[in-house]
Amino acid sequence: MARVYNFSAGPSILPEVVLKQAAEEMLDYKGSGQSVMEMSHRSKVYDDIIKEAEKDLRDLMNIPDNYKVLFLQGGASQQFAAIPMNLMKNGVADFIVTGQWAKKAYQEAKKYGKANVLASSEDKTYSYIPDCSDLPISEDADYVYICHNNTIYGTTYKKLPNTKGKILVADMSSDILSQPVNVEDYGLIFFGVQKNVGPAGVVVVIVREDLVRDDLPEYVPTMLKYKTQVDAESLYNTPPCYGIYICGLVFKWVKSMGGLKAMQAHNEKKAKILYDFLDQSKMFKGTVVKEDRSLMNVPFVTGNDELDAKFVKEATAAGFVNLKGHRSVGGMRASIYNAMPIEGVEKLVEFMKKFEEENM
Ligand SMILES: *Cc1c(COP(=O)(O)O)cnc(C)c1O
Repeated sequence: MARVYNFSAGPSILPEVVLKQAAEEMLDYKGSGQSVMEMSHRSKVYDDIIKEAEKDLRDLMNIPDNYKVLFLQGGASQQFAAIPMNLMKNGVADFIVTGQWAKKAYQEAKKYGKANVLASSEDKTYSYIPDCSDLPISEDADYVYICHNNTIYGTTYKKLPNTKGKILVADMSSDILSQPVNVEDYGLIFFGVQKNVGPAGVVVVIVREDLVRDDLPEYVPTMLKYKTQVDAESLYNTPPCYGIYICGLVFKWVKSMGGLKAMQAHNEKKAKILYDFLDQSKMFKGTVVKEDRSLMNVPFVTGNDELDAKFVKEATAAGFVNLKGHRSVGGMRASIYNAMPIEGVEKLVEFMKKFEEENM
């Protein structure tokens, strides 16, 4: 078996121990004689799986009791529509556009109400986070929306925007569980799980109780009403059972690693190795401003498209895969999510050094 160092932005690397456990439990989950894929989502054995996943996530993130946790389908993108449908009471939302994911969420929200862009970093290919200390927040805004970590561009909020008392909504798809989060700073947090937690298709929504409304417009699909999903405890219809099971295993793994503070220390150590190298390299350069660098996604370029392509090709052959950057940034991107071991980053940097020496 040859496992590679996988730097994919998503779907992405998962902890090897989790994959092994899933393999072991594939044919017979805990003496049930069934795979988790085969069992009824209404069975006691499955109920324990989803309840335990929720409990572990609550423990990890310290989620207060007045927040609901939903395991849903449709990925993060489905929430770009569900959020305005559920949260727009006045029909107004403010957006900070720091990348393509925030922009897509903004464009989708426009279909359901008035969506305002308060700040954007599109002028410089989203290579920084705008100053959000004194934004012209709309008086009647139902919420202010951010993408907390910009997967494509490699920026992240080091300080949350001043929403002037309005509810903050955050897409944390690519940095969930990478560091502690104060859930009470938000009205709603959501994440597609395929970056840091599990198989694509599952999206987790953490929403404050009082934002779960029953008085929604007639057109809102039953499946997209948070109230439907809250009342049914995420089992209104068949949930993505197997995906949720894997998420549960990953939550246990994060716990075993020491929780979110320990995860943060691990991630900071990893990211520093790569950023320190980029800062002194004569060939490779990071593409975003230093203050806003992500711990999870690290885009870099040589400044020469041919050399970038050569690097990606040789890195792939050496077992460092999925390093090609997003087409809108070019160059390379190393996604170093929770499950990437320090050794993976150390070896990548060694490889980059060698490449630099051979190609200068
Ligand atoms: C990957 C990603 C998405 C899209 O997720 P899907 O599950 O494919 O809809 C949205 N937001 C962020 C920040 C992402 O990284």
